Amino acid sequence: MVKNSYNPFETAQKQFDRAADMLELDQATRDLLRNPIREFHFSIPIRMDDSQMKVFRGFRVQHNDARGPAKGGLRFHPQETIDTVRALSMWMTWKTAVADIPLGGGKGGVICDPHNLSQIEQERLCRGWVRQVFKNIGPSVDVPAPDVMTNPQHMLWMLDEYETLRGEKLPGFITGKPVGMGGSLGRKEATGYGVIITVREALKELNISPSDTLASVQGFGNVSQYAIELYEQLGGKVVCVSSWNQEDQTSYSFRKKEGVDLKELRSVTNPFGGIDKQKVQELGYEVLPGEAWLEQEVDILIPAALENQITGDNAEKMSKRVKIIAEGANGPTTPDADKVINKRNIFIVPDFLANAGGVTCSYFEQVQSNMNYFWERDDVLSRLDVKMTAAFIAVSDFARSNKLNMRDAAYVISVNRVAQACKDRGWV
Ligand code: NAD
Repeated sequence: MVKNSYNPFETAQKQFDRAADMLELDQATRDLLRNPIREFHFSIPIRMDDSQMKVFRGFRVQHNDARGPAKGGLRFHPQETIDTVRALSMWMTWKTAVADIPLGGGKGGVICDPHNLSQIEQERLCRGWVRQVFKNIGPSVDVPAPDVMTNPQHMLWMLDEYETLRGEKLPGFITGKPVGMGGSLGRKEATGYGVIITVREALKELNISPSDTLASVQGFGNVSQYAIELYEQLGGKVVCVSSWNQEDQTSYSFRKKEGVDLKELRSVTNPFGGIDKQKVQELGYEVLPGEAWLEQEVDILIPAALENQITGDNAEKMSKRVKIIAEGANGPTTPDADKVINKRNIFIVPDFLANAGGVTCSYFEQVQSNMNYFWERDDVLSRLDVKMTAAFIAVSDFARSNKLNMRDAAYVISVNRVAQACKDRGWV
């Protein structure tokens, strides 16, 4: 859960300042990159099913577009804040840069809880969001995508509204669309698979075979489920997953020491990634407190839920066995927790590298949409592997030769690429 006192934008700025110091950036470049270049805040009035009007608050933030159109997801979340969106948009800038794709960073959000909205209300909200901001987004300006609690159907409603307002077909406006309606095969797997491609490469560096490893995963949504799928295909075993329980308004961890069964877990999970506590218990899983996923005797931890999850308060609870943390979620680790991780010499694959598979495949989707020619799934996934592996190796080589940890190395590479693009354009 997002804690009120935690401000992800402050974390993002601190991380940026560190990279800026390492790169000795000049003041103008710092001023430009420390804050979003553009922000849109707006109200979205929606007629609810009971005929009453309700006004939702929406945002779109474009952090930087020096390397290409802004790119980033749109979240529906009851605790959404403008600072969360700012932080996430900044992380998108570094993500597209580290993956070396010709896009910038953006993010959007609506303060709402889709659990409490009917399908029609969700459709109206999607269309309302587009109506408020359509003049400032588009295929060559800023390209949204799904994120926490938004899905391909939401993207299609948004595309339909956008094309209606613009009076032309513009399928490159948004990514994460349903397959057959402009979506790319492989997109739903891309983020989770990408996380595991980086885990595979990290294990190679540490000389460990995936089949000798155990993992624990926070979250059981899109990223987590496909990360588990590929990790198991490589021979690894996941012993614990956690998820949010809407009824109890808390999270739980679910453990099966002989290894969780993905298919079985999916059968007791709602569309928001919430695992049914009762049903999973009947399947023989232990139900543990929400934070227990972090305390398991495993080699690999994959936080794949939300930001601010591994903190100064709980980082010491990680087992001494942990060798790799692959950040599936955005911003799951605070700078205080990083101190513990670095002291213990844990190999961290930072969020904007680990979860760059999603935006890489979104980029492939945009390319396919603009060409109106769609690739086979294997083609998409092998291109994803090439891009993710190259990005991982560039960061780990840089980390080794400059004696940096992976997070600092990834930051230096990506901030440098964006700063250079701003300089080349004459912005600073
Ligand atoms: P999702 O909505 O599909 O799933 C989120 C999961 O986290 C659910 O299982 C939910 O129950 C769980 N969760 C929520 N709060 C929790 C808590 N306090 N404790 C434990 N579990 C909790 O979301 P997703 O698309 O899988 O995204 C997960 C993370 O990955 C987010 O940080 C998102 O920004 C990031 N991300 C997603 C993508 C993508 O392509 N989907 C790409 C890059 C980054």
